[in-house]
Amino acid sequence: MKKAFVIGWPISHSLSPVLHRFWIKRHGIDAAYEKIPVEPQNLKSFLSSFGNDGYHGGNVTLPHKEEALKLCAVTEDDAQAIGAANTLWSENGRLCGTNTDSYGFSKNLDDQVPGWDDVDEVLILGAGGAARAVIHAVLKRGIPKIYLANRTIMRAEDLATHFGSTVVPCRLDDISPLMEKTPLIINTTSLGMVGQDPLNINLNPASPQTIVTDLVYTPLETPLLVQARKLGLRTADGLGMLLHQAVPGFTRWFDIEPQVDQELRFHVLEEMAARDNARHDDAMR
Ligand code: NAP
Repeated sequence: MKKAFVIGWPISHSLSPVLHRFWIKRHGIDAAYEKIPVEPQNLKSFLSSFGNDGYHGGNVTLPHKEEALKLCAVTEDDAQAIGAANTLWSENGRLCGTNTDSYGFSKNLDDQVPGWDDVDEVLILGAGGAARAVIHAVLKRGIPKIYLANRTIMRAEDLATHFGSTVVPCRLDDISPLMEKTPLIINTTSLGMVGQDPLNINLNPASPQTIVTDLVYTPLETPLLVQARKLGLRTADGLGMLLHQAVPGFTRWFDIEPQVDQELRFHVLEEMAARDNARHDDAMR
């Protein structure tokens, strides 16, 4: 049996098993994908010995992504550029890692808003870990200017230093003038997520051709996307990024390239709704 894992601390919330197990069942392969809680102090020993437990590799989530990159003997350029690894495997006894978030981001937009990269400027909101993957994806598509807006300007400035002069840092409070001129607006902040404040921006000045995408996928229809749809703008939700980023890992561990399609999407949405209901029931108790 081929086995892969997802590790994090905590890990119970991870949706990765839902999608990998869907593909394992669809392809009828003798494989398993397991959720393993790994405390930060145990990361090194876990990563140096997972082969002994029959694992081919796996996914890494918070808080281990940066540390996992450092522990890899071999890394792909995407992981180096983003500064974190989310997909691991072993080759000749050496730990190898990459980061598939940029791939997932671009493939999602290719699916939902084809032609998204045919623009000269983008506005990225947020300068955390997810923003790093999005900047890398946008740079790979050759878009020449990125406005990077963040509440904490220093974090945006740090990313501009890391990624180069294509990235222009600015304050989240100062984006109004950019609204009219940037044809692609990407939210990578956690605002709009269940339990968080909505992202408080006004899309009215945006031109009718503007594309708006949100990395937040709980809820699927964030207040930002609702506002954009009401204005008739093209939109893309963030769930497809999660689904697409899983493809390279599955392909590597299980030797089959899985498809992201409506059936998978519905399956994951059903699981998200079930978890939502369980949370609601718990809160009512
Ligand atoms: P992170 O590293 O913690 O960064 C959070 C970002 O949100 C920072 O830019 C932070 O600004 C900003 N922020 C948080 N609270 C804010 C507030 N009250 N006002 C203004 N800005 C605020 O998180 P991350 O890993 O980048 O993830 C961000 C979001 O993307 C999460 O919702 C995550 O679930 C989602 N995500 C989705 C996918 C996907 O596959 N769709 C993949 C990765 C991440 P400061 O720097 O000022 O604190």
